[in-house]
Amino acid sequence: MPKHLDRTLTWTEARDRAAQGAVIVIPVAAIEQHGHHLPIDVDNVLVEHVTEEAARRSAGRLLTAPMIHYGFNEHNMGFPGTITVRETVFMDFCYDVAHSFVRQGFDRLIFINGHGSNQMLLNLVARRIVNSTQALAASAAHWWLAKRAVDERRASAFPGGMAHACEFETSMYLYLKPELVDMSKATGRETPSTLNEWIYDDLFGSGPFHFVNRWSRISESGVEGDPQLATPEKGRAFAECAIENLISFARFFREYTPPPDRDFNYQPPGL
Ligand SMILES: [Zn+2]
Repeated sequence: MPKHLDRTLTWTEARDRAAQGAVIVIPVAAIEQHGHHLPIDVDNVLVEHVTEEAARRSAGRLLTAPMIHYGFNEHNMGFPGTITVRETVFMDFCYDVAHSFVRQGFDRLIFINGHGSNQMLLNLVARRIVNSTQALAASAAHWWLAKRAVDERRASAFPGGMAHACEFETSMYLYLKPELVDMSKATGRETPSTLNEWIYDDLFGSGPFHFVNRWSRISESGVEGDPQLATPEKGRAFAECAIENLISFARFFREYTPPPDRDFNYQPPGL
């Protein structure tokens, strides 16, 4: 069984895996408040499970990097336990981690994200890798990979019913670490960022205007959604769907060869 965690390789094994074309998965999360019923490490636990399991089942095609534990979280700083990294620092840090893999000869990189506010920044980091190196990089939130399973089971209203410490995240955590969930405190049934047809937020679709308020202004419990609808069975189905899709995307990404670059600019003679 080939090793599935990058951190367990020796340096010669790392060179061999680059030569064999392993796809690198970089899990990225956050430490932040998740209501009264869930610990602050939810984003870490969920993204770690999806990425490590996908790599473990991929027969060596995927290699999971050590996780980036902290994320961009300024809007949540009114809640204790939350840690934020400034957006520019976060982007540079993620870029440097990814670029180190490129320098070792890995040429397919996937960021899997577990925290909503990281997503736009990781999209830009992936684009920066594509624009500045010959490697290919892509990014996705793990819940998007679980969409099929969510569509079959979702009981929360849309929009706003699945956004933060909600049916989705609580189900996954109930599946993975039930002993750390206190469902007697999962009473925050809130949809704080759902204001009108222009501004609403949900893991599975947002309104046309991007507007993120400071969270303490609008949420009492820290929750956005309905955690009472969570079950461990749903969590297992969400996780399994995301794992399967990550493996099949990695297979496609490994095999995809982009057409060669072209340069249609005017070339002055003599330059
Ligand atoms: Zn979360």
